[in-house]
This record gives sequence, C-alpha cells and structure tokens, in this order.
Amino acid sequence: MTKLVFLEHHGNELSKAGLGVLAKALTLGDSHVSASIIGSGIRPLAEEAGKFGAAKVYVADDAQLEAPLPQPRVDVLAQLVRDKDIDTILFANSVLAADVAAGLAARLDAGVNWDLTDLVEQDGKLVGKRPALQDSVYVDVGWTTEPRIALFRSGSFDPSATGGFAEVEDAPVQLEDFSTSARMVDQAHEESEGPSIEDAQVIVAGGRGLGGPENFTLVEELAKALGGAVGATRAVVDAGWYPYSTQVGQTGKTVAPKLYIACGISGAIQHKVGMQNSGVIVAINKDPNAPIFEFSDLGVVGDVHAVVPKLTELVKQRKSS
Ligand SMILES: Cc1cc2nc3c(=O)[nH]c(=O)nc-3n(C[C@H](O)[C@H](O)[C@H](O)COP(=O)(O)OP(=O)(O)OC[C@H]3O[C@@H](n4cnc5c(N)ncnc54)[C@H](O)[C@@H]3O)c2cc1C
Repeated sequence: MTKLVFLEHHGNELSKAGLGVLAKALTLGDSHVSASIIGSGIRPLAEEAGKFGAAKVYVADDAQLEAPLPQPRVDVLAQLVRDKDIDTILFANSVLAADVAAGLAARLDAGVNWDLTDLVEQDGKLVGKRPALQDSVYVDVGWTTEPRIALFRSGSFDPSATGGFAEVEDAPVQLEDFSTSARMVDQAHEESEGPSIEDAQVIVAGGRGLGGPENFTLVEELAKALGGAVGATRAVVDAGWYPYSTQVGQTGKTVAPKLYIACGISGAIQHKVGMQNSGVIVAINKDPNAPIFEFSDLGVVGDVHAVVPKLTELVKQRKSS
C-alpha cells in the first residue's frame, strides 16, 4: 500500500494532529508512507516532518498556495495521487483538512471515511474505527474502491519523534482555473495566552458547576499556575460563559493531555469521549455520585470555589520553593 499523509501547518509549525496521523500510518504493516506539505515558504518544514518519521515528503511550495484555501490543495494532491499511484490518503481533521478531503474525494471519485479514531489492518485490508450512537459504540468501516480517503478526529494519535531524515521531492503545482477563483480576503486569529488546548500537556476545564462566567477566573488561574490551557463543557459554551474554541467533547475538540482537571463537570458521555485518553484525570465535584468519578484517576468531593483556589495556591507555593 502507498499511503500519503496530508501535513497541515500553521505559520512555520506542522500541526501536531497531522504528525500524529503520520505516526499511526507508520505503524501499519509494510506499507510505503509519504507526507505532503502544501503552502508558501514551507520547504524547511519537510526536515521537521523527517524528524517525525516521514521518509519521503512531497513539497508544493508556491506563492499561489499562500492562503489556506482548499481547492488549490486538492489540485496538488489529486495529481500526486495519480502520478505516484497512491492508494490511501490520510488527514487529521480540521476546517481546512475536511474541505480538502471532501474536494479530493469528489475529484477522484474516491470513498471517504471521516471522524475515525483508529485505523487497523485486518486480513490485508484497511479498517477504520468510527464512533457512533453518540460515541457509545465503535463501528468498523472500510472502502470498496481505491483510492481511500480517511479523516481522523484531531488528537486521536500522538506524534512520535523518531529523528529521521526526509527525502524531499517537489510536487507539481498546476492549478485549475476554478481553483484560483476564490480569494482569501481576511484571516483573523483569536488572541490567546498560553498553549492551545490541542497542544497543552495540562488542561484545566470548567463546567456548569462553576456557577457563572465570572468564576472561570478560578480555572484560568489554576491553568496558568500549571502552565496549561483552559477547556470547557458544551453547557457553559452554549451559555456563552466561555469561547467555543475551548469546548472539549463529541462536538468540540478531542484532547489527550498528560493531566486533565475537570472542575464542576458532571462527566456526560459527550464530554467524556473528548478527554478520556488523557494521562491522569482529576475531578472536583460536590456530588459524590457524579459520573465523572467513574473514569477519574483522582477525585475530590468538594466545592470548586473552595478547592480550586487552594490547589492553585499549593501549585504556586510548590513552584516557588
Ligand atoms: C449531540 C450532543 C453533543 C454534545 N456534545 C458535547 C461536547 O462536545 N462537550 C460537552 O461537554 N458536552 C456535550 N454535550 C452536552 C452533554 O450532554 C452535557 O450536557 C454537558 O457536558 C454538561 O456540562 P457540565 O458538566 O458543565 O454541566 P452539568 O451536567 O450541569 O454538570 C455540572 C456539575 O457540576 C457539579 N457542581 C455544581 N456546583 C458545584 C460546585 N459548587 N462545586 C463542585 N461541583 C459542582 C454538579 O454536581 C454537576 O455534576 C452534547 C450533548 C449532545 C446531545
């Protein structure tokens, strides 16, 4: 099998989620795995991809690819797939990757399986694992034709820094007329301090138990003391207490930090599926029967308003001593 992993970048950094998909692809049998990096001024990123195990990187470095628009990327990938006999194209989900994967599927008349959390080889065939029924079960999904396209939930796999070198090959950039008719007018970035929740090693998340948006400062202060990021449940995001970009769960982000501290969060299944792969889960909840305690490594039955400030104080003391 010849697999191609689409590596998305933000500025001069490759996305962690894409590198995670690359690490997964490299574990699958004796297949040939390559990566693609598409953009403008991105050639140095190929070396970075090599350090994460890509033996071959196709680089499409062209000013016309500066804006993160999907159709020019579909042009580059479609040609690569045809020229290099690639039978499987793997993406880590993002707004851009979902558009590119869908466009590529239409262009190549290929089947796309999306929202996968794993990919395995069974009897020589690739089988995707896809959560269903509100993430309460996993179903096996496959492809009846080639090429196959797979889109994975962001955060499904960890990158693995293997320390290799990538052979770099230029990918042709021949854009269709219709692909260049869209223009990026503006791009705004949300101002934020500290690590993003996708990359953070520590996440302190707040739920409705905080009692109001003003109490998110408790969570923010603990996150700051631990050098982590702030997450939120859908209930508080829907109530306008905290930004959508911080929502963890089925309809938010899938995260896997080393430490996840849930403050005033009940632990609904839709929240659980977004954080259950965290290394250590700590829950603070005043209800001893809250479902979150069923999958926490450490639980504190107490009021967040009393426990969280104390914890923050202790972390600060420990750091300064
Ligand atoms: C299709 C679908 C998709 C969904 N997607 C998501 C998703 O992506 N992410 C997500 O999070 N949810 C999602 N939900 C919503 C989910 O079902 C829950 O409603 C939500 O996670 C609950 O949020 P919460 O834990 O903040 O609030 P609640 O369930 O109200 O829990 C609040 C908790 O705080 C505790 N508490 C109250 N006061 C205190 C205090 N002073 N100190 C300590 N503890 C206290 C309570 O005991 C309770 O356990 C989805 C639902 C559906 C139907």
